[in-house]
Amino acid sequence: MPAQNAQVLFPVHVDTPFDYEVPFDMVVKPGDFVFAPIGQHYKLGVVWNVGAAETDRELKPIAEKKPTQALPKAVLNFVSWTAKYNCASLGMALRMVLSARKALDPSPIVTHYSPISPINVKMTPARSRVIEFGGPFPERASVIAERAGVSTGVVRGFADAGGLIAQGLPVDQPYGEPDPNIAGLELSPGQLDAAASLIKSVQTGDFSVSLLDGVTGSGKTEVYFEAAAEALRQGGQVLILVPEIALTQAGMKRFKARFGAAPAPWHSALGEAERRRTWREVINGRAKLVVGARSALYLPFPNLRLIVVDEEHDTSYKQEEGVIYNARDMSVVRAKLSRASVVLASATPSLESLVNARTGRYAHVVLPERPGSVTLPEIDLIDLKDDPPERGDFISAPLIEATKNVLSRGEQAMLYLNRRGYAPLIICRACGEKLKSPDTDSWLVEHRETGRAVCHHTGFSMRMPKECPSCHAEGALTSVGPGVERVAEEASRHFPEARIEILSSDTSGGAEKIRERMQRMEQGEIDILVGTQMVVKGHNFPGLTFVGVVDGDLSLVGGDPRAGERTYQTLVQVAGRAGRADKPGSALIQTHQPDHEALQALAAGDRERFVSAELAMRDMLGLPPYGRLAGVIVSGPELGQVEALGRKFVGLAPRAKGVEILGPSEPPIGRLRGRFRRRILVQAETSIDLSAYMRSWRSKMKLPSKYKLHIDIDPQSFM
Ligand SMILES: [Zn+2]
Repeated sequence: MPAQNAQVLFPVHVDTPFDYEVPFDMVVKPGDFVFAPIGQHYKLGVVWNVGAAETDRELKPIAEKKPTQALPKAVLNFVSWTAKYNCASLGMALRMVLSARKALDPSPIVTHYSPISPINVKMTPARSRVIEFGGPFPERASVIAERAGVSTGVVRGFADAGGLIAQGLPVDQPYGEPDPNIAGLELSPGQLDAAASLIKSVQTGDFSVSLLDGVTGSGKTEVYFEAAAEALRQGGQVLILVPEIALTQAGMKRFKARFGAAPAPWHSALGEAERRRTWREVINGRAKLVVGARSALYLPFPNLRLIVVDEEHDTSYKQEEGVIYNARDMSVVRAKLSRASVVLASATPSLESLVNARTGRYAHVVLPERPGSVTLPEIDLIDLKDDPPERGDFISAPLIEATKNVLSRGEQAMLYLNRRGYAPLIICRACGEKLKSPDTDSWLVEHRETGRAVCHHTGFSMRMPKECPSCHAEGALTSVGPGVERVAEEASRHFPEARIEILSSDTSGGAEKIRERMQRMEQGEIDILVGTQMVVKGHNFPGLTFVGVVDGDLSLVGGDPRAGERTYQTLVQVAGRAGRADKPGSALIQTHQPDHEALQALAAGDRERFVSAELAMRDMLGLPPYGRLAGVIVSGPELGQVEALGRKFVGLAPRAKGVEILGPSEPPIGRLRGRFRRRILVQAETSIDLSAYMRSWRSKMKLPSKYKLHIDIDPQSFM
């Protein structure tokens, strides 16, 4: 047998795999996990290619091959594709797949106990409880003890006495097999039609993308469950992506109810044991149904048949750190590589997806409104120029009046404001100083509930100071602008009798407290809920009939070309929380820009009007989906150097027709954690391969250490 060499890719910042010799007693193939020497160390890598040794160079041998299943070919291709498209390093793209390294080893073995029958050892009340409540067996001592309400000492003592038998079993058990044939909820004729069309796409066994487009309450989840059931029947694996915020216990329950087994979970808050369990079960092909946040797309599925991207317009699908990618767009690539189907579901689809559906690239599956379901409420605008709130207040007279009416009918109201804390700006009345986050161009936000001043960009926080840090005047610091805490305070002044609560992601007490508040809202124990973005996602409050949007303009400012689209999507989702068939809802939006197209279309209840106006504008300006964008951020410790590097980079841009370069300019956050930042925006015609253009451009630039250059293909954030 001739000597072989193999190229091994390491999950570090490298663009190419390295060459190694394959020892004679080892057989490797692409996708295998190996340890190989790099410098003084042995590192875990993945075999990228295998070939006959042709080099004269003395190659170091691969040291060890892991017995784990190899990464599937489609996953290797997906890693290459991800790196290329997003201008990221190949090694860092691989790193996203190697997200649970402990999963490469077999599950740890832990002692499990089960009763021996007949029992002929001395029984005590505690031992009886073990038998009665400790099961199902076999189980670990800690779990038995908890179920039975005894100490683990009791369980072990019982075993030592000979009443329980001990055996070593793997900790990581497979997930329950989902059953596609459990009957779901009864579907309406409209849902049945939509489900049939998705099922057909899955059955063809080829790549396809469908946009499942239906208003809130039209029953999209039940419809894509049918597509998932079909993929499971074919023995395939199904991945359902949901926004991180929706990965709650309550959200997971629906899957369990439909498929009889809890899905394998994947998200950032998952513990080490659950991570390695899900990862190992996925690569084994045994985890059939996975529900996860965006990073679940990089799990090593060998047999993927269907990807569902729920709330496909949601901004949380974009990863902004490390490898910058959009999971919605990458899911289409991933499915193509496995000849699988994709379902993009939304009540307010992104304009990109809508255009793809209209031009026939995606199948457009439109769900009609379900009779008797929630319908979009009557929406009216309040022009803040005509109806300004009282001085120092944020709720206008018409909004107070409407809330009063709702409360008098014994119904619930919600006030929406996408600003956490008490006030977005703290200013000194004596010297005019504004409290800034250290080394960062961002204002500190007052949180009165916790008595702290917090930076929402870096997470920095400090006790609210008593005196001005600049002029030391005491009691001169004052809060400017509204946050949810302040709006709640104002509401309790207008409605002293009402039960008012706040719901935001930083509600103290964490996820538990948030869940509890949502439950109390659902049960009608809260009259006015003051909330941020948190309230938007998938919760049904049956008694909620009125939504007041305190500041409908918040996201219309700044240089974000999708600002109008975002505002429209968010407000549709917020307003959609109010009312149902038997109790129609209404919504009022306070705004300084009542003429804005997004708000006008919202008030008219006319999505098409918004979509066509917005698309016409984007077409004229060459913005996505009629043009392509890439963002570049140059950052580093010295401002002058950052600016010079930005200009130098622009000077190196390859000449190309149909590419326009803007900047470098100062972004809204010009300094973050001590690093200065400058932004360059690249706008290109759709005919241009922007990823290739950016890669070739990037390769011309050498950066001094401590300076960084990030490329963001199709940027969603313009901070
Ligand atoms: Zn001052």
